[in-house]
Amino acid sequence: MSNYKINTKCVQSGYTPGNGQPRQIPIIQSTTFKYDTSEDMGRLFDLEEAGYFYTRLQNPTNDYVAAKIADMEGGTAGMLTSSGQAANFFALFNICECGSHIVASSSIYGGTFNLISVTMAKMGITTTFVSPDCTEEELDAAFQDNTRAVFGETIANPALTVLDIEKFAKAAHAHGVPLIVDNTFPTPVNCRPIEWGADIVTHSTTKYMDGHGAAVGGAIVDSGNFNWMAHAAKFPGLCTPDESYHGITYAEKFGQGGAFITKCTAQLMRDFGSIQSPQNAFLLNLGLESLHVRMARHVENGRAVAQFLQNHPKVAYVIYSDLEGDPYHELAQKYLPNGGCGVVSFGLKGGREAASTFMKGLKLAAIETHVADARTCCLNPATSTHRQMNDEQLKAAGVPAELVRMSCGLEDKDDLIADLAQALDGIK
Ligand SMILES: *Cc1c(COP(=O)(O)O)cnc(C)c1O
Repeated sequence: MSNYKINTKCVQSGYTPGNGQPRQIPIIQSTTFKYDTSEDMGRLFDLEEAGYFYTRLQNPTNDYVAAKIADMEGGTAGMLTSSGQAANFFALFNICECGSHIVASSSIYGGTFNLISVTMAKMGITTTFVSPDCTEEELDAAFQDNTRAVFGETIANPALTVLDIEKFAKAAHAHGVPLIVDNTFPTPVNCRPIEWGADIVTHSTTKYMDGHGAAVGGAIVDSGNFNWMAHAAKFPGLCTPDESYHGITYAEKFGQGGAFITKCTAQLMRDFGSIQSPQNAFLLNLGLESLHVRMARHVENGRAVAQFLQNHPKVAYVIYSDLEGDPYHELAQKYLPNGGCGVVSFGLKGGREAASTFMKGLKLAAIETHVADARTCCLNPATSTHRQMNDEQLKAAGVPAELVRMSCGLEDKDDLIADLAQALDGIK
């Protein structure tokens, strides 16, 4: 891990060209890699030496970018995946198996909720969901003998709740399991969960890291802080010999800083093949080079929009942890002192009908399900993604009819506010 500040890491970490080598990260557009002898290749297969043999498992372009993200998060190792979904699945499945149990914050991305509560349940992995606002006692009570991981999102998509990372880390560690934090929304520019006790960090790089809506991707970073061997009985996959790799014990051979990512690559990437394409890794790196500059603007625009909406007579409420009076303001000041992200949610006084009129009135902000890229977009779940639900069902799902989620892009904030103002004026 380098000692540079996060702004420098965004630009420079991960790839250092030698004399006469390309300044920009080369895209290694090759499925396979050539060796002089079978024995050379054999040493790679035995994990005796580091190197590349097949891009389903590893590719140099990806590894440069993964090393950058690991450095930005303050971790010891990282890997890229084909999507954020794959990152969260791999991070959990690397230490869970049939019969395992997860403790997860109930305030998480819908895709991750489905992954855990439906698909992983079919694999025999059960989850207890807890409110992110639960007391330490309630959190403690959620653990079982077979609990293997705790999961939460720094800023939840779309609820925008802020996770008390220290509270969740303390509980996880008291029960001898790691805390996995999805840090997609703040990015390591605005929060580094490892500094607050998280053990594994995941990302949907599709969002701010790429930042241009160009490439779907994910990333996993290991802090190197979790002592697997001290809890060896819980983590046999890391702490006992892997027969599919000639009896290697990952935690012994690769140590605390390398075991998790090596196992995740050697087993899960080998078997599931959810690799990011090197082309997409290259695009991701272009995004990372300006991430620190862009996040500051996303936050600036988010703040300006949130303040404007808060004072508007047609707006019932605004959800943005940067605002004083937001239920998560105190946690945000602790974990997100430079701001969180550019996503603001708000409720319109006129319910579903007002929301529909408002959405039709928008000129600059596009209607999209996406968030966190350069162009501002808005979503009213009641009239789009959740339109089959009635008002009661919408409320229960945490997306009441009047709710609009706005992802503030990188445009001029005056133009964004003017667009909102005229769309709000259209509501009778
Ligand atoms: C979008 C998102 C995901 C899923 O990522 P994909 O890249 O779409 O697979 C996971 N977590 C959070 C917080 C997200 O916003």
